[in-house]
Amino acid sequence: MPRINDHYLKLSAGYLFPEIARRVQAFADHHPEAGRRIIRCGIGDVTEPLPMAARDAMHEAVDELGRRDTFRGYPPPFGYDFLREPIAQIDFADQGLDIQPDEIFISDGSKCDCGAILDIFAPNQQNRIGITDPVYPVYVDTNVMVGNTGPATDSGYEGIVYMPCTAENNFVPKLPDQPLDLIYLCYPNNPTGSMISRAQLKEWVDYALEHDAIILYDVAYQAFIQDPELPRSIYEIDGARKCAIEFHSFSKNGGFTGVRCGYTVCPKELTAKDAKGNDVELHPLWQRRWSTKFNGVSYITQRGAAALYSNAGREQVQSLIDFYLGNAAILRDGCKALGLDTYGGVNAPYVWVRCPDGVDSWGMFDRLLHEAQIVTTPGVGFGRCGEGYFRISAFNSRENVEEVVRRMKAMSAQAV
Ligand SMILES: *Cc1c(COP(=O)(O)O)cnc(C)c1O
Repeated sequence: MPRINDHYLKLSAGYLFPEIARRVQAFADHHPEAGRRIIRCGIGDVTEPLPMAARDAMHEAVDELGRRDTFRGYPPPFGYDFLREPIAQIDFADQGLDIQPDEIFISDGSKCDCGAILDIFAPNQQNRIGITDPVYPVYVDTNVMVGNTGPATDSGYEGIVYMPCTAENNFVPKLPDQPLDLIYLCYPNNPTGSMISRAQLKEWVDYALEHDAIILYDVAYQAFIQDPELPRSIYEIDGARKCAIEFHSFSKNGGFTGVRCGYTVCPKELTAKDAKGNDVELHPLWQRRWSTKFNGVSYITQRGAAALYSNAGREQVQSLIDFYLGNAAILRDGCKALGLDTYGGVNAPYVWVRCPDGVDSWGMFDRLLHEAQIVTTPGVGFGRCGEGYFRISAFNSRENVEEVVRRMKAMSAQAV
């Protein structure tokens, strides 16, 4: 009789979005009229159509696959040069950063990569894991699955070092007071919409270098960074090539959440210990993992992604970003005008709002749903430190965003 991976039975999270859906459905069932007014600002999925440059490139790629002389079969496992090269050039070399094309691994998106990376590290709590709180749930759950945690308790999973991100520390965790091996950081941050300064990121890189830790740095929202003083990549910090893996995605800049493409940067300097205490390079391990467990991203998709690096593609991406940031500004200003403590929404598509006194995350979720038919995400769903907050996503139409602000205003007028 086969045995299951028992670690899966420890998973307690993953109930957030189903629970939101359940409450929304229950409301709509009881209030069919109001149910039709619901505006969803919950899940972090993009709403605007694909940039024309990507569409054109993908159409052309389909036609190429339809002709014998330009047909292509299996793609190279780490990605086509026509995509790895512009990434290395535009995302790194043009920014003065040294990342070579063969350090770039094209994938079907960074959610998968964030989980897959654990394949090359020792499982079963042999690494000490540091995760911010609140957090994108994927980092936590993938660690549970490989046995890096004990059971779930009221204060999270045993074995994970939770690093609180609160208004008091501007949602950037303080350096740990205990040694960690793998540290997850994500800036611009989901869910808090906050950014890290270059000086703060340098402290983390220095910490990692000093303690032989590796930082898993998620920049899915890189394109939203407008302030040139803020770090767009961890490799802007000296020494990061020795201590950081960076995850990129085309989901939030090119609207590729449905197309599926992203990439991971694994610099050749990175090493970690084997069981005997020897230093082992990670790049060959990651290559090996990749070529055995992944057959590459489709030619069509990679052509679409490469088109995001053309002049037209870059302009079109910028206007998507401008659009969503315009939404974020409306939401942010709207919440501030209501006197709510409001964070994020400047270099990020998420606005993170403190609930009024005496209201907790789910309480506020229910109020917004019942009184204004607005679906938000309760902060506590992202971790204990998210309690007392809610997240509003700027991924929506302008019309809906303006309506959300109008309804919140009407709601607060009633409350007074
Ligand atoms: C959306 C998102 C990603 C990107 O996921 P894909 O699999 O590339 O769509 C990665 N990290 C965070 C924090 C995200 O919110």
